[in-house]
Formats: sequence, C-alpha cells, structure tokens
Amino acid sequence: MILFRIILFILILHCNTLFAFTILLDPGHGGDDDGAKAMHTFNKEEVLIKEKDLALQISLKLQEILSKKYNVFLTRSIDRTVTLPERAQIAEKLKADLFISIHINSAPDKNSFGFETYYLDNNNDVAVKKVEKTENIQSKGEEVVQQILVDLVIDQTVKTSKPLAVMVHSEIRKKVGGKYRIPSRGIKPGLFYVLALSKRPGLLLEAGFISTLKERQRMLNEKFQWDYARAVATGIDNFIISSTKKKRK
Ligand SMILES: [Zn+2]
Repeated sequence: MILFRIILFILILHCNTLFAFTILLDPGHGGDDDGAKAMHTFNKEEVLIKEKDLALQISLKLQEILSKKYNVFLTRSIDRTVTLPERAQIAEKLKADLFISIHINSAPDKNSFGFETYYLDNNNDVAVKKVEKTENIQSKGEEVVQQILVDLVIDQTVKTSKPLAVMVHSEIRKKVGGKYRIPSRGIKPGLFYVLALSKRPGLLLEAGFISTLKERQRMLNEKFQWDYARAVATGIDNFIISSTKKKRK
C-alpha cells in the first residue's frame, strides 16, 4: 500500500511538471497569406493547394497529440491572417516555453525532396537564405527586427533551441524519413523573424515540398500528416522529459 502511494505521488508530481509546460504551435501563414502554392490534379480536376492549409492540418494534429500531456495553444486554429508580430505577442502573453512554427517548403526544382528543421541563429548558407526570405516575407518596415535584439534573443534561446531541434529532427528522420523513404535535409540555423520576435526557444519546421508532386501527394494524405505530427510530438516530448530531468539534478 505504501509503495502504491509512493508511485502515485511520483506520478502526480511528474504529470504536474509536464502540464506546467506551455507549447505554442504556429501554423505558418493564413488568411490573406497563402504561403507557398501549387496546382494539383484531383480526379482530373485542378485544385490549388496552399501551404497555409497543410500547415494548419498538421498543427491541429500536433495539438491533439501534445494536449494529452502539455498546455498547448495555436497562433491560429482557423484560416485567418496573423502577422508575425501578432504571433510573437501571443507567445509573450502565454509565456510559452516553446514556440513551434510549421511550414511547407517550395522550390523551383520540381525534384526537391526532404524535411528540414530550423532553429534561430545567424548563418551564411545561400540555400538557408532562400527559405528565410520566403518565411520572413510578411516582415517589413517597422516590423523588421533590430539586429541587436535578434543577437540578444539568439544568445538566450540557442542553447535550448539547438538540442530541441536535434531531438525533433531525429524523430522525424526515424519515424517519417525511414517509413516513407524521404531524405533528411538536416538541422539548420536560420534567421527567422517569427522565432526572433517570439523570444522563446523554438523551431521552424519545413515538412516537405509543396512544389514536388510526390511530396505534395504525401502531405495531402491524413495518414502522413498524423505520422509527421506524432514524430514531432515525440521529439518535443523527449526534449521536455530530458530537460526536466536535468533541472531536478
Ligand atoms: Zn512558410
């Protein structure tokens, strides 16, 4: 009986620590901003597929999985316009512990394959610059973040964001890359305003290429969306468990 009580006590303590964690999921784009787009043929009919819709579908699934253990919120749960500073304000208001932005890639080369995981840091890679340019497109004029602020946020978040990126990416590689035979394009540092503005440890995920037929078909599939969401959730879960263990030591 005593043993049972001890186990129950540990379990309650464990659950409380996990539920104290707030995760903000950020489906990229929305409303007036479609994000990347591609025409797709469904039963001989041409349909325009938009990044904003795929990003939301994946994010909602991720929310459903993560909500079982954590406080999970979305920057948008419907198709609506949310500016990058507004997304950051939501993160600030919620005092989110993690900020996870979900996006879909696009490239002129119709044979681009793979998934990428970005965390906030400076870099000089040309390919990374291209993705940055697309995902930062909303941010102009007064919304452009001051470099000093960005440097400060990088200093504060990179130590958390990088290991988070490693854990999430490795789960995607194992569970999605392995199952669907999709190549990993790696974990990359990038200067994303939404990550900088949120001032939280976080990631920007590019699930696949909307511009590549095979990848588009796959991402439209609910089963794939669940597999991808489950992999991301497991990675986040592993990260939170390992960081709460470290804190207790
Ligand atoms: Zn995007």
